[in-house]
Amino acid sequence: MPEGLSSLPKPLALVVEDEPALVTMLRYNLEKQGYRVEDAADGQEALNLIQEQKPDIVLLDWMLPTLSGIEVCRRIRREPATRDLPVIMLTARTEDRDAVRALNTGADDYITKPFGIDALLARIRALLRRAGAVPEKGQLGFQDIDMDLATHRVTRAGRRIHLGPTEFRLLEFFLRYPRRVFSREELLDAVWGHDIHVELRTVDVHIRRLRRSMNDEGEADLIRTVRAAGYALDTEAV
Ligand code: CA
Repeated sequence: MPEGLSSLPKPLALVVEDEPALVTMLRYNLEKQGYRVEDAADGQEALNLIQEQKPDIVLLDWMLPTLSGIEVCRRIRREPATRDLPVIMLTARTEDRDAVRALNTGADDYITKPFGIDALLARIRALLRRAGAVPEKGQLGFQDIDMDLATHRVTRAGRRIHLGPTEFRLLEFFLRYPRRVFSREELLDAVWGHDIHVELRTVDVHIRRLRRSMNDEGEADLIRTVRAAGYALDTEAV
């Protein structure tokens, strides 16, 4: 079983990939690690399977027939039922701007082909942990923001806020240590974990997404950017 999930039912991973050899390799390794696996060879089939099977995580190839991975990801995020579904993009593209584009579309993480299976498994575990596979109890709050750790419900001024798993963990971390300034490195360690290599500016991408989700028009931005230092949850945000 994946680490930390031993008492829960086997998580279902959906592999969306049109390269049969890669599907076989992923299926073999994921099943060996205790996951159930479904696969789809094109984007439309993937969306159908997501609706029917409700996977716990999606491994999504970028270049797919019928609908691209980016478009599939967009549709996953648009749909309220799947808005929080963890998505890892598998991309053959090595250009950073494409990776950032994948994150901006709503992917929680990406991995560039060819990748090592251990690196991918570590990212899957980290995302499932963050997605609340191991529930905690309690309530966190700051100003008009409230977070329920058991139900993963986040509200601002009573309004429901929908966050992806990474933004949720970021906000949870800030709520645990309000007014403290954290560097990007500290945020990476706390939210992404030591075992994963993520570029520093990935933090900026997720901070932007968190702000977009939390701040309605006219509302104060509670995340303060501290030049050359990092970020803090604070009332002095500008
Ligand atoms: Ca492909």
